[in-house]
Amino acid sequence: MERTVDIVLSPAEANDPVIVRQAAEEEAGMRPGSAAASRIVKRSIDARSRQPRMRLRVLVSDAPLSDDSITPPLLPDVRGNRCVIVVGAGPAGLFCALRLIAHGLRPIVLERGKDVRARRRDLAAINKQHVVDPDSNYCFGEGGAGTYSDGKLYTRSHKRGDVEGVLRTLVAYGASPDILVDAHPHIGTNKLPGIITAMREAIERAGGEVRFNSRVCEFRIDGGGMRGALLANGLEVEGDAVVLATGHSARDVFRLLHAKGIRIERKDFALGVRVEHPQAIIDRAQYHCETRDPYLPPASYSLVQQVDGLGVYSFCMCPGGIIAPCATAPDEVVTNGWSPSKRNNPFANSGIVVSLAAQEHDARQAIAWEADPLAGMHYQRQVEHAAWLAGGQRQTAPAQRLDDFIRGRMSADLPDCSYPPGIVPYRVDELLPEAVASRLREGFKAFGQKMRGYRTNEAVVVAVESRTSSPVRIPRDPETLQHVQVKGLFPCGEGAGYAGGIVSAAMDGQRVADAVAALQAVRA
Ligand SMILES: Cc1cc2nc3c(=O)[nH]c(=O)nc-3n(C[C@H](O)[C@H](O)[C@H](O)COP(=O)(O)OP(=O)(O)OC[C@H]3O[C@@H](n4cnc5c(N)ncnc54)[C@H](O)[C@@H]3O)c2cc1C
Repeated sequence: MERTVDIVLSPAEANDPVIVRQAAEEEAGMRPGSAAASRIVKRSIDARSRQPRMRLRVLVSDAPLSDDSITPPLLPDVRGNRCVIVVGAGPAGLFCALRLIAHGLRPIVLERGKDVRARRRDLAAINKQHVVDPDSNYCFGEGGAGTYSDGKLYTRSHKRGDVEGVLRTLVAYGASPDILVDAHPHIGTNKLPGIITAMREAIERAGGEVRFNSRVCEFRIDGGGMRGALLANGLEVEGDAVVLATGHSARDVFRLLHAKGIRIERKDFALGVRVEHPQAIIDRAQYHCETRDPYLPPASYSLVQQVDGLGVYSFCMCPGGIIAPCATAPDEVVTNGWSPSKRNNPFANSGIVVSLAAQEHDARQAIAWEADPLAGMHYQRQVEHAAWLAGGQRQTAPAQRLDDFIRGRMSADLPDCSYPPGIVPYRVDELLPEAVASRLREGFKAFGQKMRGYRTNEAVVVAVESRTSSPVRIPRDPETLQHVQVKGLFPCGEGAGYAGGIVSAAMDGQRVADAVAALQAVRA
């Protein structure tokens, strides 16, 4: 007999398989010691009371449970089959390529950056020498922007696809099965490159191709339909279906589409700063303790406050993490965050951002905003360039203590910060547009009231957090998922405006692959 029961235990008890099984037996009404096997199927932390508890859903059985290990799916050999060009090897491009193979199509993935191993050297150059390679950085290269991230796999877009299917695929290629169990799963920067490499090797084994150092700089369009892509290295790749999964930072791609008269639209995005606290402050506030229980993970938070009709909210919170320098051009400063699987750094960072609809309140921007689909992108770039100037024309980021930001005063000095290229004191509140800075100020005050210890000068505000989502949408037909104007062009993932995060980008990649396969079936 198998039964699924819900139990609540202390963090230490939840970490002990014998205690978990005993508690599950008892809850299931089984005789003590009669269970032959048990398995945790869901796990979450309930930190509402003074003593945080673990909530577990456990499958318990008086007979051995079936093997639940997940292995990579058997893929057909697609050598010699019809080709589909996939531009970009981020989560959208890679999941699209794997699904195309499952449909019997042969993907040729064109990626401007390098493979994960070579990419690592370019990240070190950003961190230590302040040198940004526009084709290989924290956003560009194998695995896309998600490779050196926290790898949070939480998504709200359950309606748009099979979240569990994406998580199972990640497990098949090397992620811990814990991601299928945890309420807020994450993988960690140290584990992601191996998983990405395993996915790419599976694509290649099946006869697909992944070409690095292959930046697409032009499209061949004939009779209103896609015919292929031209690369910066002079090569041309033919194909009558092109999946465009180039992410939200590929500004050259947005410019190219616009210059060619291919319809794109302005899209709202959010802008703000990255805030870093000592992790111990966040643990104390969230777990109501002086020192975190060793069986609890570093605490996270999710905060939101309406200010003057717009949301100020936390974005991509990284407990035990590092603030990452995510510029894609040498003359800009952009922040984001990552953390290792153990989240064992002494800092907690998070984006705190304001919806960019705020800019529509700014009369100086209003006219260009209406007319130009690239207005959001230009604006994003302006703020990032201003941060670079403020940081001393290097990757050093302008920063201000949190309470100084709220009070509008220069910080005499700055606390330790994880951001590898370093930070310099600056009036970040003056660097940001007033519509954003004033809302952040009020937001921080409100967060200080919601969370004990949040408002403190031990925390530092680092500028700027500007790549929260794409400032552009590439419109597509809701049925065929082709571009509304160019047949055979399939906008995909975050850059096209149809995803926001690793899981939703992966699901969009799969959905687009299904649409490409449906079109190819009609053509055949
Ligand atoms: C530091 C960091 C931390 C993050 N943390 C998380 C997190 O914890 N959880 C989460 O869900 N999301 C996180 N994100 C966001 C997440 O990475 C993105 O939402 C996701 O990667 C989007 O997937 P995508 O495939 O649509 O685009 P991308 O991942 O951006 O991939 C696009 C790819 O296209 C390539 N490309 C661009 N232009 C061209 C061209 N012209 N020719 C050829 N190739 C091109 C790029 O090099 C890139 O590899 C993080 C992002 C960063 C930067």
